[in-house]
Amino acid sequence: MYAEVHEVITLSPTLLRVVLTGGTLSQFEGSDATDAYINAQFLPADSPVTVPFEADDLDGLDPSMRPRPRRFTIRKWDAEQQRLDIDFVSHGEHGYAGAWAKRAQPGDRLQFKGPGGSYRPSDTVDWHLFVGDESAFGAIGASLDSLPASSRALVFAIVDDDEHEIDFPSNADVTVHWLHRSTAADPETVLAETVADATFPEGSFDVFVHGEASEVRSVRKHLVAERGVDPDRASISAYWRRNHTDEDWRRVKREWMMAQSRDV
Ligand SMILES: Cc1cc2nc3c(=O)[nH]c(=O)nc-3n(C[C@H](O)[C@H](O)[C@H](O)COP(=O)(O)OP(=O)(O)OC[C@H]3O[C@@H](n4cnc5c(N)ncnc54)[C@H](O)[C@@H]3O)c2cc1C
Repeated sequence: MYAEVHEVITLSPTLLRVVLTGGTLSQFEGSDATDAYINAQFLPADSPVTVPFEADDLDGLDPSMRPRPRRFTIRKWDAEQQRLDIDFVSHGEHGYAGAWAKRAQPGDRLQFKGPGGSYRPSDTVDWHLFVGDESAFGAIGASLDSLPASSRALVFAIVDDDEHEIDFPSNADVTVHWLHRSTAADPETVLAETVADATFPEGSFDVFVHGEASEVRSVRKHLVAERGVDPDRASISAYWRRNHTDEDWRRVKREWMMAQSRDV
């Protein structure tokens, strides 16, 4: 399946909403999950392959020219308009996906499979907890969009500084705690420390924690050890890992997750 870039909207200095339309989107089936994601294929800059391509087209291709798979959350799927919004972190020239989004022009094509996904805010809890960095804002935004006016949510969101904060429209009663890497004593631990210091509302809550691996792991440890969260009922996962490409991360992820499960 593939679609074409319709427009690119700058949400913050490092977050770009790529709006996809056309291609084969008429065959796309949306998902009820608010963390639904596609598995997209990003082509190296000088790859001879063009979208759409078949598996056979990759036969004999130099490994350096092969498409790189990356997962990206569906911020919004508008079935009527056949419009797919995806919020990409633009984290510099390293890698494939972020750099692709930075360069994306109307008419550029993206090939993908999906969607997958598993989380949707529970309708039986008193409130919802969301913790994450920019890579999780698509899922957090889609989740907040889905909440009814009667519900309540607490969001801990980490960005570089106040220019990187974005809107999270919702009918629910939402409190967003913005954390800034630029002023944090330690930008890699401030997320977990702030969650640990926070006073949570009374009552039952569900949990969505996604973003950088070591930050997610520290938040998980706190929530399970100190707040009685059942890890099997919480949506907690590392979307990416600092100083690791996605390929590096996928190679070590299973072992890392086993170590994480032994934390608490
Ligand atoms: C289910 C799922 C859903 C996801 N949804 C989204 C989404 O909606 N939006 C999104 O932006 N990401 C999302 N991610 C994360 C994204 O797939 C990874 O960040 C991926 O590594 C980006 O690929 P790349 O080619 O740009 O960089 P890579 O080639 O993988 O990495 C190059 C370098 O950039 C660094 N890097 C990677 N991601 C980031 C980042 N976010 N911030 C700073 N540095 C980074 C790496 O550590 C590495 O040093 C999701 C991941 C999963 C598993």
